[in-house]
Amino acid sequence: FTINMDQLQLDEELGRGNYGTVKKVLHKPTNVAMAMKAPFSSLLHSLLRLTFFLLQEIRLELEDAKLNAIIMELDVLHRAVAPEIVEFYGAFFIESCVYYCMEYMDAGSLDKLQSAGVPEDVLARIASSMVRGLKFLKDDLNIIHRDVKPTNVLVNKKGEIKLCDFGISGELDKSLAKTNIGCQSYMAPERIKGESQNNLGTYTVSSDVWSLGLSMIEIGMGKYPYPPETYSNVFAQLTAIVHGDPPELPEDKYSQEARDWVTQCLKKDPERRATYRELLEHPFLVKDRTSNVDMIRWVEKALEHRVAIALAAVKTQPPQSV
Ligand code: ADP
Repeated sequence: FTINMDQLQLDEELGRGNYGTVKKVLHKPTNVAMAMKAPFSSLLHSLLRLTFFLLQEIRLELEDAKLNAIIMELDVLHRAVAPEIVEFYGAFFIESCVYYCMEYMDAGSLDKLQSAGVPEDVLARIASSMVRGLKFLKDDLNIIHRDVKPTNVLVNKKGEIKLCDFGISGELDKSLAKTNIGCQSYMAPERIKGESQNNLGTYTVSSDVWSLGLSMIEIGMGKYPYPPETYSNVFAQLTAIVHGDPPELPEDKYSQEARDWVTQCLKKDPERRATYRELLEHPFLVKDRTSNVDMIRWVEKALEHRVAIALAAVKTQPPQSV
C-alpha cells in the first residue's frame, strides 16, 4: 500500500541519527504503529531552492532523475523481506525530502539496550540473527549493508532482532546523508586507509564483517572497543584501528568459541576474514541453533534496567531553580 503524511498520526520521538529524527507514528487506515524517519529541516532543500534560482530548468530535470533513481531503489527495499530485516512499509516525498516508514521495533536499538553488556547465549543469538540478515541481503538482493553498528540493530518485545538502515546504492544513500563520521567508527581498517573507498562498487562484504565483529564486542561488553576518552583525538583513534591489534572479547566472561568467532571477524587483512557461511558454521553459532535462550525475558529485563538508569539520572539532577 502507499503511504502519505495525511494518513499518519505523529507520536513520540524514538531517536535521532545523521539524517534526521525517527518518530513513532500511527498509520490510521491500517492501525499499524510504524517508525518514520524524517529529515532535519533540510539543508538539502535550501540548496535545491538556491539551485532553482540559479538553474531553473536544469533543476527540474536533475530532480526528476534523482527522484526516479530513489524510487527504483525503494523498490528493492520492498523486496527485502526476511525475519532478520526490519520491514519497509513505504516512503513519500515532501519538497524533495524522503520520509521513510518502517516496522516499529518496540525495544529500540541495541546500543541503548545493553549498557551492562550481554551474556554469551544472548550474544550468540544476536550474532546469528545479524549474520543471517546480512547473508540474506547479500545472497538474495546483492546488497552490502555498509553501515553495520549497534544503532542499526533493532529489537522488539517478541525477542526478535532485526537489521535496518542498509545502503541500497547511490541516490537514496546520498539523500539520507549516510556517514560514519563521529566519535565511534565501525569502519574496517582498509576503508579507513581508503583502499576500497574509491567508489561504491569496490566496497566488499568483508568490510561489513569487520563492523559486525566490532559491534559484537560493543554489545557484549556494553562499551565501544576504541573509547574516545582513551585517545587524544579522532586521528589517534583511527590510527589504533588501522595499526593496532584488533580488540577481543575478554577471557573471563566469554568462552574460547565466542572469542574465536569474533577474532575471525576482526582479521586486519580483509582476505582472511570469515565469510557469512563460515561464521554460521562456526561452533559458536552451531551451538546457538539448539540453545533455548529466553530472548523475550532478556529484552524485558534490559528494558527494566534502562528505565531504572533513567530514573536514577533524574533523581541525581540538581533541583531546577524557579
Ligand atoms: P543512525 O543515523 O545513527 O543510524 P537512525 O536515524 O537510523 O540512526 O535512528 C536513530 C534512532 O532511532 C535509533 O538509534 C533507534 O533508537 C531509533 N529507531 C530507528 N529506527 C527505529 C524503528 N524502526 N523502531 C524503533 N526505533 C527506531
